Parts: sequence; structure tokens; C-alpha cells
Amino acid sequence: MKSRKWIQILLACMLALTLCSCNRTKEQQPDAADFAQKDIYAMDTVMTVTAYGERAEEAVKAAEKEINRLDNLLSTGKKDSEISALNDAKKGALSKDCVNLIAKSLKIFHDTDGAFDITVYPLMEAWGFPAKNYQVPEKKTIENLLKNVDASKIHLNEKNASVTLPKNAEIDLGGIAKGYTSDKIMEIFRSYGVEAGMVSLGGNVQTYRTKPDGSLWKVGIENPDQGKDYLGILTIRDQAVVTSGGYERYFEKDGKRYHHIIDPKTGYPAETGLKSVTVVSEDGTLADGLSTALFVMGKAKALDYWNRHSGEFDVILEETDGTITVTGGIAESFTSEYDFDVIETERKIAENE
Ligand code: ADP
Ligand code: MG
Repeated sequence: MKSRKWIQILLACMLALTLCSCNRTKEQQPDAADFAQKDIYAMDTVMTVTAYGERAEEAVKAAEKEINRLDNLLSTGKKDSEISALNDAKKGALSKDCVNLIAKSLKIFHDTDGAFDITVYPLMEAWGFPAKNYQVPEKKTIENLLKNVDASKIHLNEKNASVTLPKNAEIDLGGIAKGYTSDKIMEIFRSYGVEAGMVSLGGNVQTYRTKPDGSLWKVGIENPDQGKDYLGILTIRDQAVVTSGGYERYFEKDGKRYHHIIDPKTGYPAETGLKSVTVVSEDGTLADGLSTALFVMGKAKALDYWNRHSGEFDVILEETDGTITVTGGIAESFTSEYDFDVIETERKIAENE
């Protein structure tokens, strides 16, 4: 399972890079000094940072430092991280990054009617995902743990940067931390005057400006069906593309598959008829949180949510029967060898009538 994820990530990087270079003319080819790239293993995945420009090398080094800093701060997998310390002590003063990320997670929790809930961590542990000692918990265990799953009970005081958790609660930023990290890398690209850049971190891609030759970046969307080609290609600039799916991390028991996106209302892996959700947005943190939330919500609720928030993001949904739905804002940027439906907002449909 793990090796499959690695292969997918490497394939995504390779595709992104080959596609990214295919239209470049000889004159526009950046010289080696203007190009820097590095693979970094962090947050339980392999990440690739690519930058073009005079200070590309410095920017990539700063990005690596930032990735490691955030990994050490945010990962529940690290015993000494700020989040692990908070989970142990249930209260504490936190860094600006943790406060920002918890605040954003709570906003997404409220907006998605609880589909995105960072207090799912005790359930993640019961299913054995963090330690990779997978098991199907007893029904009773899940019922008991569900009593502590409710992000509305997190007390966040943004002014004095402190957080208090209820007695048995534990939080996990795994559904949003990579998006926050890629947003931070965009800030680094900006501050180093990078001409063009991209970061790919296990299912998340974020692009900065256009490619050095002025053309748009092409990002391949992973196909959940093993061995199959890409679901499609997005042609974009300055946007994050984040995919969540039940195929990413899972185990099988007695012929049934159990994946790592938990429905906070049931305590079981979300089964809503979706195979994958890809969110496209300028805001990487939002894209990451929403990709997880919309997967939990299922197609009807996800599209209803998009209808009310279409200015913030677009989405590509793949259902278990293979149906692909793309929202209006990216219909022109998406190409696929498969058929897909394009959906517009109610407002746009009314305007066209
Ligand atoms: P990945 O991190 O594999 O790319 P996601 O962004 O969808 O995929 O995040 C899944 C992770 O989010 C899980 O490993 C877990 O840490 C956390 N998580 C699982 N279910 C939820 C949920 N309903 N709300 C918030 N976080 C969740
Ligand atoms: Mg996510």
C-alpha cells in the first residue's frame, strides 16, 4: 500500500515535470543556475519542490527548512511536536502556525457541518492508521470514542494563542497540514523573487505563477484505478490542486477495504459513493481541508456546498461507478480521455435562461 502511494507520487511528479517542460522552446530553456529542485521526505510522504529564477537554489533550501519546521510542529507522528504536546496536556500556548491552522480547521468544521473534524484522532488510532497496526475496532469502542469527537468543544483563544481541549479529546491536522505547508512555500517563492515554482507533496500540488516560458502548468490528476492512466489534466497557474480518496491509505480485512478518511458522525471510513475528490483553489490550506470534507459529504452535499462557495474553489468528483463531475470554474482548464459532466452554479444557470 505504502509503495503504491510512493509510486503514484513519483508518477505524478514525473508527469508534472515532463508535461511542464514539453512546450518550452530552446531560447526559453532556463540555464541550470536558474533551476533548482529537491525531493524531501516529510509528513509521511515524499515532497518535491521546484523553482526557477536567480534565487531558485536559496528558495528551495528555505522551502526544505520550512517543511521540516512545520513537520516538527504539526505532526502527531512526532512525539515532541506542538500538537502531540497539546494532545497530552490538553492545553497550552501555541505557535502562530498551530493557531492559524486550528482556526482554519474550525472554520471548515463549521462551514461543512462537521464533515471536517480534527478531533477524529482517537478514532484514527483505534483503526490503527497512525501506527500502521490496522484493525477493525469493536462497535462499542467506536461508540465510546465518538463521544469525544466534536471540534466545537475546542476552545481556541486567538488573542493569547492558547488552546484547550476537552478531557479525552485529541486532534490531528493530517487532513490540512500539507495544504498549509504548500501555501507557506508559495510565500517563500514570493519573498525570494522566484520566477516560477511548483511543489508536489503526496496528492497535493501547488503552482506559482506560470512556467518560465509563460505557459500554464499541467497537473495530472491521479486515477484511483490502479494501473490506469490519469483521470485528466488540469492546466493552471497560481493554484493548489489537492486530491483525497479512499484509495490513498487503506487496509483490507475479511475482503473489505477500510480507508483513512473517517466520517466524524459514524466513526467509520466515509462511504458516500465517491472514489476521489480533487479541489482546486488559490488557497492550498482550504483546498486540503475541503478535499477531505467533501469526500465525507458525498456528491450531492459537496456540489451544494460548491454552489454556495463557488468563488473560493472548484472541484472534480469521481464516483465509484466512474462518473466524473467537474464544476464550471475549471471546465475549460480540464481535459480527460474520459467523459465528464460539467456543472454550473444555480446563479449562472438562472442568468443564462
Ligand atoms: P492525505 O493526507 O492522505 O493526502 P487527506 O487530506 O484526505 O489525505 O487527509 C486524510 C487525513 O486526515 C487522515 O490521515 C487523518 O489524519 C485526517 N482525517 C481523517 N478523517 C478526517 C475528517 N473527517 N476530518 C478531518 N481530518 C480527517
Ligand atoms: Mg485533505
